[in-house]
Amino acid sequence: MRARDYLRSRGHTVIDRRYDALDIIDSDDDESSFAEGKEKYRLHRSRERDSSITKKAKVARLKDTGTLSCDICDFYNKYGMLGLGVIEVHHKVPVSELDGDTKTKISDLALVCSNCHRMLHREKSTMHISELKKIAESYAASV
Ligand SMILES: [Zn+2]
Ligand SMILES: [Zn+2]
Repeated sequence: MRARDYLRSRGHTVIDRRYDALDIIDSDDDESSFAEGKEKYRLHRSRERDSSITKKAKVARLKDTGTLSCDICDFYNKYGMLGLGVIEVHHKVPVSELDGDTKTKISDLALVCSNCHRMLHREKSTMHISELKKIAESYAASV
């Protein structure tokens, strides 16, 4: 049993500071808050918004698997047909390693739902897909 739960079971009021409302409300998506550098981050986003390659990535995935599910969570199973085709493209190459010359390959791209994509970019440096997957899975297992 966690210390917090133990204290609660004894009738103590435990205020979890981690969930202080003001702390968890992000200021916004201000790109200047990214430690990785504004220009590099812009390049990352522009690669993700390049409709020609992102479309190719989605078509290839659909051909391979028959679905466009999130590489991290089971978003697709949650919404069924409604979620069909609702997917975002994330560039897996670390922002710090991006340069203006190298062309984006389909294998550089991951397909993620909006929530997971947001989480990947929530920290100052972009999280690796496997890292977020681990967090999501260990959280799901703990509840
Ligand atoms: Zn997801
Ligand atoms: Zn991204």
